[in-house]
Order: sequence, then C-alpha cells, then structure tokens
Amino acid sequence: MLIPGKIPNKEPLIRVGIILPEDQIDQTTVTLSDTESYEMETDMMHYPSCKNQKKFTIIVKDNELFISSIKSKTSKVVFSPHLPDDLPHITLPNIVAGRGFHWQKSIRAQYWGRIELSILEGKLIVINELPLEQYLNCVATSEMSAACPPEFLMTQAIVARSWLLANIEQKHRDLGFDICNDDCCQRYQGINNCNDNTIMHINNTYGKVIIYDNKICDARYSKSCGGVTEDYDNVWTGDAVPYLISIKDQNRNGNIYCDPQNIPDKSVKRYIGKVDTNDDYFRWEYIVKHENLINSIKENFQVDIDKILKLNPFKRGKSGRIIKLGIDYYDTKDQEHTLIIDSEYNIRNILSESFLFSSAFTVNEQDGNFILNGKGWGHGVGLCQIGALSMALANKKAEEILSHYYPKTNLKTIY
Ligand SMILES: [Zn+2]
Ligand SMILES: [Zn+2]
Repeated sequence: MLIPGKIPNKEPLIRVGIILPEDQIDQTTVTLSDTESYEMETDMMHYPSCKNQKKFTIIVKDNELFISSIKSKTSKVVFSPHLPDDLPHITLPNIVAGRGFHWQKSIRAQYWGRIELSILEGKLIVINELPLEQYLNCVATSEMSAACPPEFLMTQAIVARSWLLANIEQKHRDLGFDICNDDCCQRYQGINNCNDNTIMHINNTYGKVIIYDNKICDARYSKSCGGVTEDYDNVWTGDAVPYLISIKDQNRNGNIYCDPQNIPDKSVKRYIGKVDTNDDYFRWEYIVKHENLINSIKENFQVDIDKILKLNPFKRGKSGRIIKLGIDYYDTKDQEHTLIIDSEYNIRNILSESFLFSSAFTVNEQDGNFILNGKGWGHGVGLCQIGALSMALANKKAEEILSHYYPKTNLKTIY
C-alpha cells in the first residue's frame, strides 16, 4: 500500500477495492483471459498455472470461500499474472458502479494485475493490485469516455495520479486497500474503455504530477462546477488549501467553459462516462417532495417532525453552493424549530435519496413541496471535468488546463 506523505521515486503498486463488503455480494465468477499466464494460490495450495481452468466460481459459504470447480475451501484466493509487465486480464461479472448514487448499476469489468478474493463481515471482498500507470489508464477512460480529446485524457491522468499519490483522504486503509473503484475515490471500471490511442496519450504523462510547495497536490475534481469553482474549506473541514480556491471557470472574454453554450449537451453526452445518466450538469431542476424530506430527516436526525415550513440557505460558498442550510419545521405538538444542516455533503444527502447533484440551488415552494433550481454537479472544488473537456476541445494544452484550475501549481515528473 502507499505510504502516506512519501513521494515515490519509482512507479508504485496500488491496491484497489473492486468488490466491497457493503456491496453484499457472496458469489462471483473469475474468468481468466488466458490460462497459462496466471498462477493461483489458496490457503493450502499453490498452482503454478491454471492450465485446465479458465473459469472459477467462488462462493461465500459458512464464512469460507468455496471454489466450486476445484471443490476446495479456503479463506483467501489470489490470481496473479506470472510477469507483472505482461497484460493478460481477469473478468468479473458483478461490479458495482455508482455505489449509493442515483446512477448505480452493475457492470462486467476486466482487470489487469492481480486479484485477491477473501471474506470480510461475512461478505466477499475483492482487491485488485496493479502498477499505478496501468490503473491510471483505466481511470482516465472511466471518469469520462475514451472519446475525449488527448489533452483532456492527459489532464485527467495527471489529476488522478496527483490526487492518489497525495494520499490525503485514505478512506479505506482499515480494509487493506488504497482506494475503492468508484466515485467515493475515483472511477475505475477496469480496462473496458481503454484502447491503443488512449494508452498512448496517457503514457505521455508517465510519472507527472502537479506540485505545490514541494508536495504533490491533493488534486480534487468534480463533474461540473456550474460556472465558478468552490473553496476547499467550504466543502471539507480543515484549513484552506492555496491551490484549491474558487475561480471563475471562464476565458478572457467571459465565456464559461462548462456552459452548454460552449459545450453543447449533445457533445457532453459523447464524452462523459458510460455509467452516467444525467445530462443537465450545468443547470438542473429537482423537486423535493414534502413527505420524502420528512422521512429523510426522521431517519437521519431522529427528531419529532410533522410539517416543514421553509428551507433557509444560511451560508453559501463563492460558487453558490450552500454550506449551511436551516430547515424550519413544526413538531407534532405544533412547536416551531429550526434544524441546521451544516455541510455541503449532508445537504445533498438529506435532500435526495440518491444524493443531490450539488448544493448550489435556489428554493421555491409549491403545494408543500420544494422546487430546487440548481447548478453544477459535484462538490465543485478544483478541476471541473466538463470545463476541462471544453478547454481541451478549444485546443488548450494539459498544462494550461491544470494551471487554470489549480493556480500556483507546477507540473513535475517524479519517476
Ligand atoms: Zn472510496
Ligand atoms: Zn466549470
């Protein structure tokens, strides 16, 4: 696993969680692209090749893994390619994409590197270990599509590499992997979308990161800022970050990069990730039903609530994102109260079952329901992916795109 605070001087191996206990999966099938290239290891046995087998169905049974084709029980099974530089792949059929979001689906994905299956909390956990650059090839074509222009793919690869190596968040250390495969960390859907062209462009950024004050930048990014990006400290706790500050996402003539006038929805559709369903990223409308909001508040805050009177945005960041929201309500004894929701994340979580697009919205009431008119998609800090795409389509270079979104930073090759 990555060591926090250490800048690697050679390409590291990283560990990605691709099936997590929360996915509640207790069976999968591992299919090898080629039986000669892999070795397999269980608690008791080491198989130097998988010559006779290409498919292994693995089932969680009585807190052990049962490998049906070889009728063997084990606590862990590992498939590793013989040569790390060789590129055979493993297919898994039931990978969750968009975990917990409105666009969640199950996909079939193929992976380079080594796959480790074991059990945690009675459910299957699968970890993919592979060289960082192979992983980045997959991220840059999973976050957005392989059809994106080269300078966008290169920008996305540099940003994904920097964020990962800055290694600030470490959300999954306890589970034994560096990052998960989804929007919680970075979207990683295996090699499904890579091709020779994307591999060539992304390899042009080999070992490149953005640096500020001799440290690798914690390069945050989201789908669409909505016109203005947000300050880091309005979204996350902790001090302000000098290069994650609000900027106007526009050119010298005041044309906003992520505005559909610059990048029509139709072309966005072509370039966004395969699992995305929404296409109103820049401006959107969402109706919060009175009853749903009551249920959501009860569930999250265990308060006695009968009727909601008003949603009051108390504090907004520079991008318009609400960072403190007051909800005025009556309890069942007709007493009036105000509930304070005090973060961008919690606001999005409370207002929509499937996580609201962003917290940058205005509120109108109609028949007891709340109509939200919003802008942007995601937290809005750092790089705006649709804006960066629009810049790349306007022939801007990766370096220029990076210094637009991460002011005062420099590009550096660290290995
Ligand atoms: Zn994660
Ligand atoms: Zn933008």
